[in-house]
Amino acid sequence: MTAASPPEVLRAPLVVEFPFTRSLGPVQSAFLTGLRERVVLGVKTSDGRVMVPPVEYDPVTAEELRELVEVAPTGTVTTFAWNGHPRPNQPLGTPFAWVLVRLDGADTALLHALDAPGPDAVRTGMRVRVRWAAERTGAITDIACFEPYAPHGPGEPAAATPAPHDGVFPEPVAGIVAPARLDYTYSPGRAQTAYLGALAEHRTVGERCPSCHKVYVPPRGACPTCGVATTDRVEVGPRGTVTTFCIVNIKARNTMNDAVEVPYVYAHIALDGADLALHGRIGGIPYDQVRMGLRVEPVWTEGGRYPGHYRPTGEPDADYEAYKELL
Ligand SMILES: [Zn+2]
Repeated sequence: MTAASPPEVLRAPLVVEFPFTRSLGPVQSAFLTGLRERVVLGVKTSDGRVMVPPVEYDPVTAEELRELVEVAPTGTVTTFAWNGHPRPNQPLGTPFAWVLVRLDGADTALLHALDAPGPDAVRTGMRVRVRWAAERTGAITDIACFEPYAPHGPGEPAAATPAPHDGVFPEPVAGIVAPARLDYTYSPGRAQTAYLGALAEHRTVGERCPSCHKVYVPPRGACPTCGVATTDRVEVGPRGTVTTFCIVNIKARNTMNDAVEVPYVYAHIALDGADLALHGRIGGIPYDQVRMGLRVEPVWTEGGRYPGHYRPTGEPDADYEAYKELL
């Protein structure tokens, strides 16, 4: 390594995770409650086709669909893709096939997992059946997966005829919480690596555009107006001006994972020397006294990689002319 070697660019795992809560209409409620009771329901369209999974409106005519039918827990694979490296929370922990299965009695296919020993054991046209989860709650995961199905005895039963079903079950499921999770390996790039490195020393470093001379904080590595790389590092702040703000009434946690009392103020803050406002929480002042032009400074939490919040400096408010271009 020589003195001219660029600093190593940061990389870190980043997980974006949140529970997605939704209510179910009458059709989805019947479908998921049915799965809990080991019954697979579809819906009949106006031209007599049976859709599994069911939908609430006809995909062709947009007509409301409510005529439920029960189909068989056996079906035929219409296409598949082998998943050799299952990710966390996928239906199976061992390699498996994603399959589209047209259940007997249905005209459309359902996406699910097929437990098979390897890709050579899977083919389009193969017969499969539902493997029910031991504990069922009224969710698509009540079908643990599909498994190959080779019925004993001569021949297979004739394709099931969908049977009318009223969709009525005791204690129907009215809503679901579906966990959404995205796993990334995030690399912030050259400019933000330097920005994050400086923050660890409680300094804020932006980059100046060589063409228009604007200082970007946090720096993205290029000027979006001029389309050129920004390489000139500039230390800004630590003080700044609130350019605009909002009062938040939704509970949140701060950088140390402590609950923040509501309401609280989240603001755009133009640090001195920066031509772009960053955002942060304002503390140390009642929420209804925060105003545009308020002068603030960062408050660092022990061990924090960025300011926990910003508080008033006590200076006179900045003149509107000084920050009007930064709104
Ligand atoms: Zn520029």
